[in-house]
Amino acid sequence: MEACNATLNPSLRSWVTTANLSGSDFPIQNLPFGRFRTNSNEPWRIGVAIGDMVLDLKAAELINHSDMNQLLAMKKEDRVALRIAISNGLKEDAPVNHSAFEQSLFKQSSVEIGMPCEVGDYTDFYVGIHHATAVGKLFRPDNPLLPNYKWVPIGYHGRSSTLNVSGTSFPRPCGQVKAADTDAPIFQPSARLDFELEIGVVIGQGNQQGQPIAIEKAEDHVFGLTLFNDWSARDIQAWEYQPLGPFLSKNFASTLSPWIVTMEALSPFRQEFKRPDGEPQPLAYLSSEVNSLQGAFDVKLEVLIQTEAMRKAGLPFERLTYSNFTEAAYWTVAQMVTHHTINGCSLRSGDLFGSGTLSGPKPEQAGSLLELTQGGKQAIALSNGEKRIFLQDGDSLHSRAGVKSLVQFALALANVLQQSCLLKRPKFIFTDEAIQLLPKRNISSLKNRSKSKVFDYPNTSITQQPKN
Ligand code: MN
Repeated sequence: MEACNATLNPSLRSWVTTANLSGSDFPIQNLPFGRFRTNSNEPWRIGVAIGDMVLDLKAAELINHSDMNQLLAMKKEDRVALRIAISNGLKEDAPVNHSAFEQSLFKQSSVEIGMPCEVGDYTDFYVGIHHATAVGKLFRPDNPLLPNYKWVPIGYHGRSSTLNVSGTSFPRPCGQVKAADTDAPIFQPSARLDFELEIGVVIGQGNQQGQPIAIEKAEDHVFGLTLFNDWSARDIQAWEYQPLGPFLSKNFASTLSPWIVTMEALSPFRQEFKRPDGEPQPLAYLSSEVNSLQGAFDVKLEVLIQTEAMRKAGLPFERLTYSNFTEAAYWTVAQMVTHHTINGCSLRSGDLFGSGTLSGPKPEQAGSLLELTQGGKQAIALSNGEKRIFLQDGDSLHSRAGVKSLVQFALALANVLQQSCLLKRPKFIFTDEAIQLLPKRNISSLKNRSKSKVFDYPNTSITQQPKN
């Protein structure tokens, strides 16, 4: 690992000069992996971000294929060797002739940057204990955490087909919602559209079915981390989630940052994992010395919003919330990997875990609007006078994450995992065709309903009204 440590040296500089600018997302110490193409007719290429450029790894003759999932499956030592080769070729006074590298660089602004890999399976965990407690309180004030929470890393299987890369817009989902004072649900666009601030875990090497990954080996199977937004329709969720958990309220869209920051790049920013006194210790299969010493990641997180009105007025994004991965999480990445496979379940390279919403301990550190607005009761005031309880059409979110231990690296990584998503107006929802698909008895209520009668969440409007 000594040679790898040299790639993390804070004083290392690159001959790609934009990488050395203070505030650059992509200094030479970072080197995150992603996929790009120069036009939409060509296959994705594997690239590494450096400054405002992306290095084409195949063109630079560092790899001989363009299959990111194959690259993710590399053994840890090969992955480290590749990182060292990239760093050596990009650093100032490079020991190797870097003309091949120079010819393999593209401006990030001139290429299309896509999903970082093909995600086969996506699992969403629930490791944010402050989130679980706050949400639990909304439903069960006296007993917010269920008894299994402190023993089992809770998760559910999500859906990979609607994972999108940062910058992808999607329509507001529709579904069944039921107000507390009515007997029957209605079908309508979600009026409680929310975000979930999460870390994404990208699996590197998989495991065979029937062969669990021991916690001591768990991080060898993780390629790196990304930032993840697990958009959620709270009104659909509230009606559908029992007894099997969320379904259509979660799988309409989730957004992933385009760059995977490797475990190697994050290695200086590890922290101890410990439970406060009086908390149950994890069962033996979820515990190891290394996990206790440095199982956590000191990653700062933030979510900002820009409404349509702010955008039109030229106003910048405004912070909604902030937190920290270590403070928010009750379980570590290694514990997620081991628990997921302990029954013999196999993981494959490119599989994605969501951490679960990473809310901090303070109310203003909540990682979702559901918590920030106390279940939709308390509107958030934005500086231009607008208010939000849940997201409105045209809102755009920007999440970011960074590390802080080493000053230069910290500042440089502050924006590295980023995403933004514009919520488009729904286009297909209340066409006549869609109405035909509804049960007959709902059609009249849909056409004649007044918003306040059906849905009385304060300050939540449904921008798109049904056609009459
Ligand atoms: Mn989630």
